[in-house]
Amino acid sequence: MTPHLEPHSPLLLAIEDLSVSFDGFKAIEGLTFYMDMGELRVIIGPNGAGKTTLLDLICGKTKASEGSIKLKDIELTKLAEHRIVAHGVGRKFQTPSVYESLTVYENLEVSYPEGKSVFGALFFKNTAEVDRKIRKTAATIFLDGELDRLAAELSHGQKQWLEIGMLLIQEPELMMLDEPVAGMSVREREQTAELLNRISEGRSIIVIEHDMEFVKRIARKVTVMHQGKILAEGSMEKVQSDPRVIEVYLGH
Ligand code: ADP
Ligand code: MG
Repeated sequence: MTPHLEPHSPLLLAIEDLSVSFDGFKAIEGLTFYMDMGELRVIIGPNGAGKTTLLDLICGKTKASEGSIKLKDIELTKLAEHRIVAHGVGRKFQTPSVYESLTVYENLEVSYPEGKSVFGALFFKNTAEVDRKIRKTAATIFLDGELDRLAAELSHGQKQWLEIGMLLIQEPELMMLDEPVAGMSVREREQTAELLNRISEGRSIIVIEHDMEFVKRIARKVTVMHQGKILAEGSMEKVQSDPRVIEVYLGH
């Protein structure tokens, strides 16, 4: 295979000169970041590097002081959070937020996007189609045997998977996961790596993660953040052997 002959994927995300300050402290400072459509990008970096803040900025939870975030040709920095969701940005927070008193099936059902016509009228959900999609999603997240269980009864890891499923069923254009394996057992971490490798096919995903064993299992291109900026970017091998990355992150 000749890599230089492969067609270049179009840009999905273009972040340029992005900054945000909290009481004078620059959590993100002049950050520039590009991501192609269909990429699975892993972002690593020490605590306080600004990783979660970057996701907050992309999804509109935090507003930028300066700079631009473009999803294809849509400028996101000017949009309210719900508008950004409507443009297909889906985000999973560090702690799982599922509906504890609903079953696994119901959690997926309520996450299924409501169809809206151009006139704003609700479509009828085609029950058979929704049911098929729920079961398919449940199988993807290893919960097809748990459909009738209350979310409250799931293990922490299973709740994390359920929340990934609740995002997946919405088929976001860009899916962002903040530390998805935090609090998981070794076996659950391995399964989550398998899950991400499987769902990354045809999807664009940003994963923030600390667990380097997990990162090695899923990483294609890795971005290293430090003090609100990009410190290094490239293959796992490249960033792992970068002296600046070893100095600030991997060395200790
Ligand atoms: P990471 O996810 O890489 O560990 P964060 O993005 O959570 O880092 O935080 C980056 C820095 O910004 C930290 O020093 C944090 O204390 C600060 N920070 C993040 N959000 C806020 C906020 N809403 N108000 C004040 N400081 C914040
Ligand atoms: Mg964080």
